[in-house]
Amino acid sequence: MNTGGCACGAVRYRAEGALRPVVACHCETCRRTSGHHVAATSCLRESFTLTGEVQWWSATPGYRRGFCPTCGSQLFWQREGSPRISIFAGTLDSPTGLRLHGHIYISEKGDYYDLTDGLPATPLTDPDLTTDPAEGAA
Ligand SMILES: [Zn+2]
Ligand SMILES: [Zn+2]
Repeated sequence: MNTGGCACGAVRYRAEGALRPVVACHCETCRRTSGHHVAATSCLRESFTLTGEVQWWSATPGYRRGFCPTCGSQLFWQREGSPRISIFAGTLDSPTGLRLHGHIYISEKGDYYDLTDGLPATPLTDPDLTTDPAEGAA
């Protein structure tokens, strides 16, 4: 079981069961909305409970990002109709029990940093390295 929330505390969540390893997304939308890149885990929506009000924004039809309307903390990413919800790992309470597993969309990553951790990385998305397993072959 993991818990987490936004910086001001207005939004809190709780995820029962195991969370997926963390995947970093370097796509342009993640970079612009987060200020760097996003690192997210995910869980089944049915094992996820939320308190507080989340505002949603869609950069692409069919996908939405959730943030706290008070403090602006970005918390969630979701594909419409998916049984899973992605949780931005920085919003989890410690200890998370999680590790970074790899990088996706590195073809869109910022030019001011290099990936030096030796973890798997893919130019776009990959079934084994997706923020939403239901979207890929996995
Ligand atoms: Zn907040
Ligand atoms: Zn992204």
